[in-house]
Amino acid sequence: MIEELKSKIRDIPDFPKEGIIFKDITPLLGDASSFKLAVDLMADRYKGAGIDKVVGIEARGFLLVSVLAYRLGAGVVPIRKPGKLPYDTLRETYELEYGTDSMEIHVDALEPGQKVLLVDDLLATGGTMGAAAKLVSKLGVGIHELAFMVELSFLNGREKLKDYNVFTLITF
Ligand code: AMP
Repeated sequence: MIEELKSKIRDIPDFPKEGIIFKDITPLLGDASSFKLAVDLMADRYKGAGIDKVVGIEARGFLLVSVLAYRLGAGVVPIRKPGKLPYDTLRETYELEYGTDSMEIHVDALEPGQKVLLVDDLLATGGTMGAAAKLVSKLGVGIHELAFMVELSFLNGREKLKDYNVFTLITF
């Protein structure tokens, strides 16, 4: 099953810059049965876990967060690039596999004591999700797990996230 999903992810060499092999998940997302299988496998893992909110990271994380939250009966919370969220925000700066970036969350997006699942499409170096988890922690919530559809295990992103439970569906 997982091999089937893996075959729907293609390598794009030198994107977005030289030396990076970009894992393009759009063929998987665009194939109805693969998309359903991937979402079902991830949602089933958290069924009955009492997740209050699912937090998704801009931009590809948004392709998963909404459908997962819906399946879990949870609310959706976006983490976005600076300047995109309209209300008061908290900000975190972090390093990427290619460059640095910042991200923001609305100050009132989560309430202390809520059980939260964080979702992104892909775990590379772990910098992005590490920053997201820090941001979410500032709001006093409990992080149930960090979930990714894809993991590039050779980049050791898990090491950066060792304080949290990490789940990845497809590993390269
Ligand atoms: P990182 O912070 O290094 O774990 O990078 C994770 C974020 O960058 C994810 O949101 C991915 O969408 C994107 N990303 C980083 N490296 C790759 C890659 N080789 N292929 C596809 N997406 C990547």
